[in-house]
Amino acid sequence: MNGGSLALYVHWPFCVSKCPYCDFNSHVRSSIDQDEWREALLADLAHEARLLPDRRLTSIFFGGGTPSLMEPATVEAIIGAATSHWSAAPDVEITLEANPNSVEAARFADLSASGVNRLSLGLQSFDDEALRFLGRAHSSREGFRALEIAQRKFRRVSFDLIYALPGDSEASWSATLGQALALGTTHLSLYQLTIEPGTRFATMAARGELEPLDADAAAALYELTDAMTSNAGMPAYEISNHARRGQESRHNLTYWRYGDYAGVGPGAHGRRGGMRTERHRKPENFLSGVSRHGHGIAEEAPLSTVEAADEMLVMGLRLREGVDAGAIAERFGFDSVVDWDRVGRLARSGHLECDASRIKLTAAGRLLLDHILGQIAAVQPRALAVAS
Ligand code: SF4
Repeated sequence: MNGGSLALYVHWPFCVSKCPYCDFNSHVRSSIDQDEWREALLADLAHEARLLPDRRLTSIFFGGGTPSLMEPATVEAIIGAATSHWSAAPDVEITLEANPNSVEAARFADLSASGVNRLSLGLQSFDDEALRFLGRAHSSREGFRALEIAQRKFRRVSFDLIYALPGDSEASWSATLGQALALGTTHLSLYQLTIEPGTRFATMAARGELEPLDADAAAALYELTDAMTSNAGMPAYEISNHARRGQESRHNLTYWRYGDYAGVGPGAHGRRGGMRTERHRKPENFLSGVSRHGHGIAEEAPLSTVEAADEMLVMGLRLREGVDAGAIAERFGFDSVVDWDRVGRLARSGHLECDASRIKLTAAGRLLLDHILGQIAAVQPRALAVAS
């Protein structure tokens, strides 16, 4: 499809150390050749641009890893190339994820000058003990200082916090969240700590060295979060993301509303014109892919209509605005993509709301997203007309 809008994701795969809860594609290396990486990312980007002509670029997102460790000149070169491959929307959103270490904060002015207009800061906690537990390389003091600099240097600043840590209570989380809401930000990402397979925390939990907060206590903290952020005018527009009206992440909305996005850099996923793409995860494999083939793609395959319809439902249900299940069925040529009897039952039990064919999770339903998806997702092929 030509002429549509497009989001661009760029993955920088390096971090100074590996956090014990992290299952992202992040790697620690003693040295990084910035020139080599700039050229590889630019080549990978040019490959996507050749396959996606005439798009209007609505957002760029530098994720990682820790993209604030990129040289600002590299960031600038990628933004320059992207906006010459595609015409950029006048209000193109350019986000970069940053950690609040002082070394990185010292780069904020240069990153802003390179074209980044939105910073997403990984504060994670205001408490030094919690930061140590999370294996973070910054202190709470550095975090506050970095936020202050970011708010001066960037038009839009979001920050992340992780809650539902072992020992968290409603009193401690409400104090932290109250403090966060007073910091003048217009977007917050609030994640519950989850123990992901293959992480150091998973090993510790298996050995009995870490006891995750129990599900009921975590659910109570989620409800508290919902109430406090709504009262402060920053309701959740997605399961874990909160914003003032108009300050939502346009880039992430593209994912959840099932728009096309190009993904470049190690491990990046993309979706273009009905194809899903995935780059080599390991940085060295990515570099050798680019030098041999001119791109870092490890896998590229067409999405079946069943997969695409299912993905669109899964993504859309994350959003407060919900998803039009009838429109998805129509788009992909199915009779239905959900089991309407079950949708009706979940609406009666207060977990879903239905308005014509649009389905939304209620606050109670948002706590049970995966379970509800398992209950309702059911692609029904269109009944064939039989000639008599
Ligand atoms: S800084 Fe972020 S990407 Fe890097 S290891 Fe920690 S959580 Fe993972």
